[in-house]
Amino acid sequence: MKPVNSVLSSYGVTVFETMSRLAMEMDAINLGQGFPDDNGPENLRLMAAEAVINGPNQYPPMLGIPELRQAVAEHNKRFYDLDVDWQTETMVTCGATESLTDCILALIEPGDEVVLIEPLYDSYLPMVRRAGGIPKLVRLEPPNWELPRDALADAFSSKTKMILLNSPQNPATKVYDRNELQFIADLVIKHDAYAVCDEVYEHIVFDGDQHIPLMTLPGMRDRCVRIGSAGKTFSMTAWKVGYMTAPANLLGAIAKAHQFVTFTTPTNLQRAVAMGLEQEDSYFAGLCATQEAKRDRIRDALDEAGFETLYTAGTYFLSVDIRSVGFEGGDVAFCEHIIREAGVAAIPLSAFYQKNGQPHFARFCFCKQDSILDEAAARLKNHFA
Ligand code: PMP
Ligand code: GLN
Repeated sequence: MKPVNSVLSSYGVTVFETMSRLAMEMDAINLGQGFPDDNGPENLRLMAAEAVINGPNQYPPMLGIPELRQAVAEHNKRFYDLDVDWQTETMVTCGATESLTDCILALIEPGDEVVLIEPLYDSYLPMVRRAGGIPKLVRLEPPNWELPRDALADAFSSKTKMILLNSPQNPATKVYDRNELQFIADLVIKHDAYAVCDEVYEHIVFDGDQHIPLMTLPGMRDRCVRIGSAGKTFSMTAWKVGYMTAPANLLGAIAKAHQFVTFTTPTNLQRAVAMGLEQEDSYFAGLCATQEAKRDRIRDALDEAGFETLYTAGTYFLSVDIRSVGFEGGDVAFCEHIIREAGVAAIPLSAFYQKNGQPHFARFCFCKQDSILDEAAARLKNHFA
């Protein structure tokens, strides 16, 4: 029989799925895959339930229901002072993952170069390669995750079609500052490229810092796509509602991909997310404050268990240097070890790189009940004592 597609079949099952399955099998505390352990805001769940009972339950408009698209435009104005025309510049997709895929399919021509900054969220590289793009990888390294400016500048060329930028960045937790963003913006303009900005953790930024969309920098409004996710902003990762903001000419092109990939997103979830985005500022501040307290809690507990912890600037992930507890193997071995021997699941940071580099770091997800975080840290402490 003829072979299946060689690009996608070269990848195994994602580390998130593998670790979650193993955690279930071993009855371990799952601090691997990134998802909260509560059910999400009740007002949104009630709204979604009511909307599915009362309908309509037929295809909504392809670009998303007007109330959600208007809410996306207003959210841009409220938080970033971006003026957005909801009718020509917003679109709703099945999660940020679909937004990313739509952008990649719509913007890349085979042979185009795409600048990617490792550590990378898992879908970027396979989809860029599947679209025929040539990845140009730039590495950020723990523990400081400094932007290697020369390497980044070298990764751009006249063939660069776009950069895919994730800020706040999973799993580095880096929140790009204005100076770094300006450096990136200058490169994008110099090389007449686009920027696809994965900003799903936009509301989970700590220590009084602010998320800055690249789109708000001078000259970037016409070159950027900005992507958000209800899964992260409303702590319901199963909902898979994503939303993008882009200049009209790009949005029109990207909508062609959406048209053929999923065409629409469930109406009831869109209605609830519209309500969610319109909530008072206190909702968004509360999300951030809650996660910041959890960051501090797990940091202190892991610290006490003997781990050297990396600074978490945003997202709901915290990484540790596994050498600090005397573990001598790599990070994959460490994660396999602690899931079996300590009953705690984590994700090896090397999974976010194409080539291993320094595999000595493991990522813990902390958007969990305090008692679960305490128990996980206690298990690790006992195990490594
Ligand atoms: N980008 C990043 C950086 C993520 O961490 C995630 C969450 N898994 C996604 C995109 C995907 O978001 P969604 O679940 O909305 O597709
Ligand atoms: N974004 C989540 C994480 O980094 C997982 C998403 C997924 O499982 N595909 O853990």
